[in-house]
Amino acid sequence: LAATQTIAIVGAGYSGALLAVHLSRRPGVKVTLIERSPVFGLGLAYGTTCPMHLLNVRSGRMSAFPDDPGHFVRWLAEHEPQLADPEGFAPRMVFGRYVRALLQEAVDAAEGRLELMAGEAVAVDAGPDQARITLADGRKVSADRAVLALGNRPPGEPDPEFAKVPVDRFLNDPWAPGALDKVKPADEVLLVGSGLTMIDVVLALEAQGWMGRALALSRRGLLPRAHDPVQAHAGPNPPPDETLSQRLKAFRRRIGERGWGAAMDEIRPFNQAVWRALDTQERRRFLRHLRPWWDVHRHRVAVGVAEGLRGLFESGRLSVAGGKIVRVEPGSAGVLVDWRPRGSREAVRAHFERVINCTGPLADLSKSPEALPRQLFESGVVRADPLRLGLDVDAGGRVIGRDGRVNPRLYAIGPLTKAESWEMVAVPEIRSQAAELAERLTA
Ligand SMILES: Cc1cc2nc3c(=O)[nH]c(=O)nc-3n(C[C@H](O)[C@H](O)[C@H](O)COP(=O)(O)OP(=O)(O)OC[C@H]3O[C@@H](n4cnc5c(N)ncnc54)[C@H](O)[C@@H]3O)c2cc1C
Repeated sequence: LAATQTIAIVGAGYSGALLAVHLSRRPGVKVTLIERSPVFGLGLAYGTTCPMHLLNVRSGRMSAFPDDPGHFVRWLAEHEPQLADPEGFAPRMVFGRYVRALLQEAVDAAEGRLELMAGEAVAVDAGPDQARITLADGRKVSADRAVLALGNRPPGEPDPEFAKVPVDRFLNDPWAPGALDKVKPADEVLLVGSGLTMIDVVLALEAQGWMGRALALSRRGLLPRAHDPVQAHAGPNPPPDETLSQRLKAFRRRIGERGWGAAMDEIRPFNQAVWRALDTQERRRFLRHLRPWWDVHRHRVAVGVAEGLRGLFESGRLSVAGGKIVRVEPGSAGVLVDWRPRGSREAVRAHFERVINCTGPLADLSKSPEALPRQLFESGVVRADPLRLGLDVDAGGRVIGRDGRVNPRLYAIGPLTKAESWEMVAVPEIRSQAAELAERLTA
């Protein structure tokens, strides 16, 4: 069959790779998948080489395909039989191998209709007839439609306080290749942030033989909760159709009855619908008051990870505090940090050999210093959503430009589209989004 429709996807993490897999199964479609990092199919989450970085979702829920929930566990049974437990938490790098294998299978089966193109996209323009993508080396790709699958961005510009500190003392991007190599085995470390990124960093430091002590500091000092050792298997239970504060009351009651883990799982299938029904003001209230609590209960860590952390807390090597950094200055062989514990007026001063930014991926794409996001915002091809969670897109994933018009040639997928549905960061949601978008693009 001659190709009749062309689609270019920028970014080959899980979102871009799975969309390409779905599209490649449809006759008459030719796909170009563009990725700037050396390996396709991994992205930030699954590109880790640290075996201690485990999935934070049980394997039984990590199938790449919404209509085949057992697919990942069957793949494990064939390729990593010791991990083939639907209730278990596999290493993230193993999941990365799974996605890469799916992509390779799709390339082989598509007989030239799925092209993997290595390179960095620096510009995307979507005109009336075509979408055009320019790569850093000058190559150009034209397609009927383009999809942005840029995913989790590296952290943006550091807090100006840390700009005073030498770059080998303040590690702004802990995911940059070799960044953590700068940490010496006995270093006293300040981790700015106490969420999943902080936990990833601590596990990676442990794996490289670090034996020092660390303080994880965040505004509230909240730590992600752990999954229940035994899965509670909570069925769907729709939240009441009421105001946000009444919903919260009902949710609290449910926690009393079922425990917070099951209460959280029960509402997960309805989270997108609830978010879509909130107006901007209510969404803002949710983000301001509830988000920190939401994040630590919704995005839980694997049981084994929680056990490892417990050992670090008990030995005094890791502690977590709520507070605010007020001043930073270079110290002798390190960094002097004045920080004010939560609820206190007095700042305390501490010395650290290394400070690591663990605040996580940059959410506000308009602040990204990278070439493509800058071009997209400066040209007005995209605009930020009102709450700066990502890109403004319509319910079908089509990008809305600065002029407020929906662009019929440009789409977005994955965490970039969080503003539209809120719950669009993890595989169980993105896999449905990828399947549905493939359907829509080829309808
Ligand atoms: C550390 C971490 C751990 C996670 N763990 C889990 C988990 O256990 N379970 C779960 O369900 N979810 C997890 N998530 C959520 C995760 O967001 C999704 O699972 C999914 O990986 C998102 O994929 P993505 O393709 O949208 O983004 P990404 O994985 O970030 O991929 C985006 C890709 O786009 C490429 N790219 C960006 N800009 C350009 C450009 N200009 N030109 C070319 N290529 C470009 C990048 O190199 C990257 O490969 C985790 C997230 C993080 C950050």
